[in-house]
Amino acid sequence: MDVRLHCLGTTGYHPSPKRHTACYYLPDWQLMLDAGTGLFRLTKLLLEEPQEKITILLSHAHLDHVVGLTFLLDTLAVTSLKEIVVVGMEDKLRAIQKHLYHENLFPVPPAFHFQALTSPEGQLVLEQDQATLSIHWFPVDHPGGATAFRISSGAKTLAYVTDTTARPDAAYVQNIYDVDALLHECYFSDSHKELAEKTGHSWISAVLEVASISRAKKTALIHINPLAEILNQTTDIESALAATKNIFVAEDEDLLLF
Ligand SMILES: [Zn+2]
Ligand SMILES: [Zn+2]
Repeated sequence: MDVRLHCLGTTGYHPSPKRHTACYYLPDWQLMLDAGTGLFRLTKLLLEEPQEKITILLSHAHLDHVVGLTFLLDTLAVTSLKEIVVVGMEDKLRAIQKHLYHENLFPVPPAFHFQALTSPEGQLVLEQDQATLSIHWFPVDHPGGATAFRISSGAKTLAYVTDTTARPDAAYVQNIYDVDALLHECYFSDSHKELAEKTGHSWISAVLEVASISRAKKTALIHINPLAEILNQTTDIESALAATKNIFVAEDEDLLLF
């Protein structure tokens, strides 16, 4: 059976008229990837299809990936959601608890369970109601450090790679072979390679190389630069994709099946 993935936020840094920041929700796995501003879209989905528990995997704690953790009081108030487990690297969870939930920034710390990952790479098993997920986490290069995930239900496998510079020889590439779906960041077009390297992000031709090496059945490009939309600029990302199969730019509110 196909696994459903709702794209709740497909940009990075800040929202744009059409995109919110990083957040993806997989109801069949009761799983969320990152908690950016797109998280507010979860409430409507949970009213339509209730869940009592979800697990949120955090790639890192930059604000565009975690600010939505402060939106969940609304979700908890009006949906059947009772338990939220937030999984991430220990130092990132500590930063969230200390800073994001500091009373000067946010009034009421929500009652989440925090599950810290204590080594840069490892495996964990999540027993969800409808699936048992094995999760392999591993580091990717990014200022402050970020974590990527390979998640498998046995039947289907997804890789989530965001906030890093795609390189065919990067160590993470060996962890994303033969997945059913790859979500890979692609913040920049090829004309901004230098800026991409400086800020720890990817450009399109390198992402296409990595997607090809990984043999991913489907690749969704995510964490798309919001500025191009605001400036009404076309990037070379769309034209680079014209020659590819099964690689596309994810849009907010897309429902991907894999
Ligand atoms: Zn980001
Ligand atoms: Zn980041």
